[in-house]
Amino acid sequence: MEKYIRRSAAAMCACLTLCWAVTGGAENAAPAQEAAAETAQETAAPAETAAYSVLSSGSKGEEVRRLQERLTELGYEPGAADGIYGSGTKKAVRAFQKANGLKTDGTAGPQTQAALYSQAAVRAAEKPAPVDVLASELPMLVNKEHPVGENFEPADLVPLNEVCDPGLVKIKYKNTRAVRQAAVALTEMLEAAREDGVTKWQVSAAYRSYESQESILNARISTYLKRNSGWSRKKARSAALRTVAEPGASEHHLGLAIDINVPGASSFLGTKQCSWLHEHCWDYGFIVRYQEGKESITGFTAEAWHIRYVGAEHARVMRDRGLCLEEYLQGIAEGSIEMPRPEVTEEVLLGD
Ligand SMILES: [Zn+2]
Repeated sequence: MEKYIRRSAAAMCACLTLCWAVTGGAENAAPAQEAAAETAQETAAPAETAAYSVLSSGSKGEEVRRLQERLTELGYEPGAADGIYGSGTKKAVRAFQKANGLKTDGTAGPQTQAALYSQAAVRAAEKPAPVDVLASELPMLVNKEHPVGENFEPADLVPLNEVCDPGLVKIKYKNTRAVRQAAVALTEMLEAAREDGVTKWQVSAAYRSYESQESILNARISTYLKRNSGWSRKKARSAALRTVAEPGASEHHLGLAIDINVPGASSFLGTKQCSWLHEHCWDYGFIVRYQEGKESITGFTAEAWHIRYVGAEHARVMRDRGLCLEEYLQGIAEGSIEMPRPEVTEEVLLGD
């Protein structure tokens, strides 16, 4: 019965209010280049590493182009083979280094290039298909005990600034994406708020990849190390994990969690927007995911700004019974809560 609930003494924060800037950097893979024959002839033995110059961010030229073509051939998706060592190339080099047991610094030094052009180079793992996170009749649970895998990706992610009216809500970072259904529900909700005279909203975070969460955690660890000379990395990491979720354990990976605040306000709690949101979000399918009094169940400190899309039928039961998601799912599993019937929309009634 403890399947969904695990009591954890150390409550932690699920997301970062301050949003350590995370940029998408999702480059499209260039079509596979026909460089196989050429590179096979040039396969380098480790002894020949001296023949390679160090390529890193900002490097340009034929060597970079060849590097990009080889990365593409191995499935690492550096983007177009344009001969410019940009963020896409760096990301692909890091992925190659990680898969090949090399130091993951994103710099293509002699050792990395020798491994890259070697016939023993490990190819990129095939990415699993994106997951329809709303396909299940119950909301998906993501927390410390139920993390998603490194390659998890929700299906149907859309850029919020394309879905949401900029006059309705400011999207703080332009690459912010969310699952379409959650984005549409957000828009409907904020339109209703506007009718009630409550405006000035901002989204500071929504979907976050495993890699982004890793960057956020690493940035926080670096900050602790800088501020506290003498701290070990282990100590800094455990301090960072009190406020940043471990990669895989953040609900933002689902593309259904949204951090909302008021532009320019130092705190969301106490604003009229916060009061409106906490009263009405349920009717639009969102829950206030981390609430006071539930810290020992959710494992996170209360976050007034973090809402999670689950669908109105589930959200209303959680509101009416005062349950957090873990309690709700456990109640359903135990049979003490009846599974709510899916909402029948007008569209379905009118459909053929
Ligand atoms: Zn959040």
